Amino acid sequence: MAQKTPETEPLQILNDFKTPKKEAIKTLNEFIDHLQFPLEEKNKQELLIKLDGLPIIRFIDIMVKDSEWASQASQETIKRIDYFLTILKKHKEDEQIKILAVPREIKLDQMSNQQLRTTLSLEYNQTKSYPKTWYKVDHMEIRPTILVRIENIKNKKDETIGQQTTRIVKEYLENTEDDIGRIVSIEPGREVAKIKCLEVPDRTQLYNYLQTKQPQWISEIPCIVNPQILIQNVKFDARDANNWIERFFIKNRLNREKRRFEMKILHHTKGIGQLRNLFIEVCPSLRELIQSRFGEMFVGLQMVHVKDYFNINLCRKCTMYGHTTTRCNKITKCPYDGEVHLNQGCPIIDQPSKWRCPNCLKFGHCAWDVDCQVYQSRLKAEIEKRNFKYTWIMN
Ligand SMILES: [Zn+2]
Ligand SMILES: [Zn+2]
Ligand SMILES: [Zn+2]
Repeated sequence: MAQKTPETEPLQILNDFKTPKKEAIKTLNEFIDHLQFPLEEKNKQELLIKLDGLPIIRFIDIMVKDSEWASQASQETIKRIDYFLTILKKHKEDEQIKILAVPREIKLDQMSNQQLRTTLSLEYNQTKSYPKTWYKVDHMEIRPTILVRIENIKNKKDETIGQQTTRIVKEYLENTEDDIGRIVSIEPGREVAKIKCLEVPDRTQLYNYLQTKQPQWISEIPCIVNPQILIQNVKFDARDANNWIERFFIKNRLNREKRRFEMKILHHTKGIGQLRNLFIEVCPSLRELIQSRFGEMFVGLQMVHVKDYFNINLCRKCTMYGHTTTRCNKITKCPYDGEVHLNQGCPIIDQPSKWRCPNCLKFGHCAWDVDCQVYQSRLKAEIEKRNFKYTWIMN
């Protein structure tokens, strides 16, 4: 390892990232110190110029995504690095400095194979943007939630069970003098009140409070499940599911790292011809990896476009949520205006500005539009149940 004097350039320190994991943590801490972090306004410009060209964010990204590394680093270190990254990325946006560029000074042949591969693939990624069909969901505020159910409440004409429950819970919590944790909002679900808390400790505090003070209410923390993906129209033999997964890892060059990833085929439906559509549960790190590869994965000799899957049914026949077309017992409605005619016969099919969504009744989009507020609220409810922070929906 290079000896680090105060004059050591960040560049030299970075070379030590090739050293074993524990050393890498130390190196990064030293690196942050060396930058007199947090950056002071007066030397910010100079430091950013030094950083210009260093693939620092990339190096750290590689490190922090390594679960072995993460298990060795202390909470304190992770927080510090996370903060460092956030600030650095912000500076980068502010100053338009190309921190991510590969500098000529760093020789690619000095990198380990893994670093080289990741660096090159990230370089390639930069020139490419996410598919047009994907959409952003980073505006969604996902909060730790408690669901409260109160028994023996019946639906009324003007107030659903959820609305009544929400009203009762709000009244009760508004009137308490106790410290119950920080609540962001209380919203009605179908048959529950959803209490959104600021942070996880606030939720724990409120949950314990409700358990003690209102034991007759059924308070629960919703169970969180892994992300799910959909892979359409691939060869699949249900008797050989394990082998399918094994080959998926090999074809996507994940075999060496497969201990880090988990996937489980939940069910499958008929696709085109003999092909099947697979509904797969994946661990958060695999979901992340698929996104970083633009949803393009390999199954056998075929490249597929992986999609996220959520349990949201939108009926293609009556355009309503909550059931599938095969179970629909309602009248066929047009997705462009909600009228009773087949959509091929819709008089305004070519005039999107006149479309009127039958679900939210707003003009300018049709029932299938992902921007529809009814869809967005259903999607949010699904995302809240997932063990993954979605920024994009792979669609
Ligand atoms: Zn229907
Ligand atoms: Zn129509
Ligand atoms: Zn709508």
